[in-house]
Amino acid sequence: MAKAGAAAGPILRLKPGREKSLRHRHPWVFSGAVDRVDGDPAPGDTVTLMAVDGTSLGRAAFSPSSQIRARVWSFDSRTPIDDAFFRQRIERAVAARRSMQDAQHTGCRLIHGESDGLPGVIADRYGDVVVLQLSSAGAERWRDAIADALGGATGATCIFERSDAEVRTIEGLEPRIGVLRGALPDPVSFTEDGLVYRANVAHGQKTGFYLDQRDNRRAVRALAAGREALNVFCYTGAFTLAALAGGATRVTSLDSSATALHEATENLAANPTLDPGRAEWVEGDAFGTLRKFRDAARSFDLIVLDPPKFAPTAAQVERASRAYKDVNLWALKLLRPGGLLATFSCSGGVDASLFRKIVAGAALDAGADATVIGRFGPGADHPVALAFPEGDYLKGLLIRKAL
Ligand code: SAH
Repeated sequence: MAKAGAAAGPILRLKPGREKSLRHRHPWVFSGAVDRVDGDPAPGDTVTLMAVDGTSLGRAAFSPSSQIRARVWSFDSRTPIDDAFFRQRIERAVAARRSMQDAQHTGCRLIHGESDGLPGVIADRYGDVVVLQLSSAGAERWRDAIADALGGATGATCIFERSDAEVRTIEGLEPRIGVLRGALPDPVSFTEDGLVYRANVAHGQKTGFYLDQRDNRRAVRALAAGREALNVFCYTGAFTLAALAGGATRVTSLDSSATALHEATENLAANPTLDPGRAEWVEGDAFGTLRKFRDAARSFDLIVLDPPKFAPTAAQVERASRAYKDVNLWALKLLRPGGLLATFSCSGGVDASLFRKIVAGAALDAGADATVIGRFGPGADHPVALAFPEGDYLKGLLIRKAL
């Protein structure tokens, strides 16, 4: 760590004691930690972070309208933040994922924000297309450098921007969707475990697909043989196709979005080896539909529950906990004795220990004798920096209902 004087440009001075998290390599500076800013940085400009004793702690992107006032690019304040910096970080992230892709797996998260040293930057590869999501003032400031570096590192024929995450509003940024480099093919197709999927990169959820569930779809595929399955919150049917490929006798898939269900049937049609006669699609609200299934005395051997983010932040945890408990309770009631439930939460506000408690409460209320026989997380292309627990959002349990 360098002493003052080494720093050029604007300086963000921290309040006494507030440099601790930076010393532990946590990449966010909250507004309450800021004593003052010397200079007049524009949103996204690079500032040097300085402790009260004059030690500089790194270089960060300034974000005046967000509670997260600065996001660290580098913990070494001598690092120039320029095009070459982004090239190097992006090449490093892309290289780390080379072994995770081959002809059977052409979908991959290439950049996972803070955990790849690039706060506010997400990049997902779908075949020859890379979808970029920028969600912080700093990432926005470096859009061109990032797009060029991604093009260079991947050889993608198209870089498509999908910067419409809600957090952009907090950063004072407008949504931006459109082609940045090359031309967008229609459809955008890729392969996961040998199955063909389409990603609706312009309008779908996230960047068009839930790549983070890749390993868990493989697990479900391995468990599906001979089982009748229910896929709740199925979106575009990724778990459905995995279960069918694994030999499920029948898969019922439920989602409230007609568009998602339509895309799911297209995904199924893109895989002629899978029998569409084994798939049932149901449009409806999960909470009400699971009750109706119960009233109709329906039951299943394998249930996948992958709801949307009920608690994006800690503030919504209580309400979210009730929602998670409710769907898990109904799923456990619909499960046959000896049946399996793969249940997930992608809420940052609900950690693994709370999630386990919620599912335990659901089992108790459902009168189900159940055990945890496996645990799920995101694939290796979604790394979590040890110093950044906020990155640990996806957790799941494999539950077995006693015979
Ligand atoms: N399991 C999916 C991702 C699920 S995303 C995959 O692997 O691709 C969450 C899905 O839940 C979205 O498709 C959304 O349309 C759906 N959804 C949200 N609220 C719902 C509700 N109350 N009932 C049913 N579906 C809902």
